[in-house]
Amino acid sequence: MGKPTGFQEYNRELPAKKAPEERVKNYNEFVGLYNEEKLNEQSARCMNCGIPFCHSGCPLGNVIPEFNDAVYRHSWEEAYDILSTTNNFPEFTGRICPAPCESACVLGINKPPVAIEEIEKHIIEIAYAKNLVKPSAPFIKTGKKVAVIGSGPAGMAAAAQLSKAGHAVTVYERDDRPGGLLRYGIPDFKLEKWVIDRRVKVMEEDGIVFKCNTEIGKDITLEELQRNNDAVVLAGGSTIPRNLPIPGREFKGVHFAMDFLKQQNKRVGNSAFDTEDILATGKDVVVIGGGDTGSDCVGTSNRHGANSVRQFEVMVQPPQQRTPHMPWPNYPMLLKTTSSHEEGCERHWGVNTKEFLGDENGNLRALKVTDVSWELDVMNRPIKFAEVPGSERELPCQLVFLAMGFVHPQHTGMIEQGGLELDERKNVKAKEGVYRTNVSKVFACGDMRRGQSLVVWAISEGREAARKVDEFLMGHSMLESKDAVS
Ligand code: FAD
Repeated sequence: MGKPTGFQEYNRELPAKKAPEERVKNYNEFVGLYNEEKLNEQSARCMNCGIPFCHSGCPLGNVIPEFNDAVYRHSWEEAYDILSTTNNFPEFTGRICPAPCESACVLGINKPPVAIEEIEKHIIEIAYAKNLVKPSAPFIKTGKKVAVIGSGPAGMAAAAQLSKAGHAVTVYERDDRPGGLLRYGIPDFKLEKWVIDRRVKVMEEDGIVFKCNTEIGKDITLEELQRNNDAVVLAGGSTIPRNLPIPGREFKGVHFAMDFLKQQNKRVGNSAFDTEDILATGKDVVVIGGGDTGSDCVGTSNRHGANSVRQFEVMVQPPQQRTPHMPWPNYPMLLKTTSSHEEGCERHWGVNTKEFLGDENGNLRALKVTDVSWELDVMNRPIKFAEVPGSERELPCQLVFLAMGFVHPQHTGMIEQGGLELDERKNVKAKEGVYRTNVSKVFACGDMRRGQSLVVWAISEGREAARKVDEFLMGHSMLESKDAVS
């Protein structure tokens, strides 16, 4: 253990962020780094408690007290070894994970939790700076070939692990660059794209081949991949957005969030796009939906120079303090406050949008909304909402982003052609812990299997699925499993 009294001596401190009015001037990341003394203090706050719940709070089973201890001792190589054993991409999770490990931190019962996410980011950035991040594929190969479909965090993690096991891996990606939603969903101000390029370079040095601009089910059939490979891993994400099919949906100015975010990421990355410009500049913007996608629309609209940005959430505001039904200091992620909200956004809770109103030219001019109240069950959980009588009103706006989540993966193309069975939520059916689909040699992981989720879960599923593929190919696997550490 680093410093037994550290948690009493030091308060939680996060690295300085650029002021909101400064950071909205560009799309760069705006969170700084600790100096070495501060990093040392923050790692010293880890209590090395008897039962470290942070292990099980993390979907990857990260061995957090151990790397905190190594950081406290300035033992960078050791810290990096511990962290990279369970997490292939700490540079992603260290930047954008909602850090369920911190919600599980025992210190969090009495004081703010250990700044685990930041410590993780520092370990990997120091490791890159000290040239510790190196290709790790074994010299002796198995002679087996695996195709991975989709280059998001799930596909990348599966590819990295399969390569580590000695298999020849090719990743197929329909977009022009690898990264999935890390590249073309999450804005640069949360994750600059050189971070992905740097990792892809290490993976390529490891022998992993990335074939972009190649859609399976269109350019190559799944059946062809099955024939030419010993196994196939599907990691195509959950890409069909939830719609709001109310009157006026067809007016110009009502967009799915991803059409806006993807275009802006392409603009920043100098990638070509063939869709009409969606610009928030000078407009009154409403974002419908309160999750990560919604807050990324808020941050991007502010960077475009929107006249006003409002965000509507049909749920009511969550309690800001512990209640008998919410004893742990962990609020529902859907309703969290993000750095984008600090940059300027009026949040409206318990609001239902009933109609989009347009002008004679077919352009959106306003929303018709009402306030709602929720009926609660015995556990105080919302089950049904009703309109508040007399609350109907019109709110002027010229641009709306629908950010209400994703319903399932795209079924046309690869899934339909391949005859893949779906589960009751219309995701690719493959049991957690097994990851095999109904189709011979084909496995599935990430959002395509579990439904829309988090980067940390995608990495976790990619790793676990890779282990199952390795067992399938070799009869056993030496790849790490989170079950072994948590
Ligand atoms: P994806 O990242 O979706 O990658 C799937 C890839 O497969 C895509 O590149 C796609 O083009 C490719 N593909 C699909 N079909 C084919 C095919 N037939 N042939 C070839 N390629 C194909 N999570 C967090 O933890 N923190 C956040 O801050 C956060 N912010 C988010 C913001 C937004 C706007 C969105 C939409 C999601 C966010 N998430 C966040 C969720 C997170 O990004 C996803 O859970 C995660 O990326 C899922 O990883 P994946 O690899 O399963 O799929």
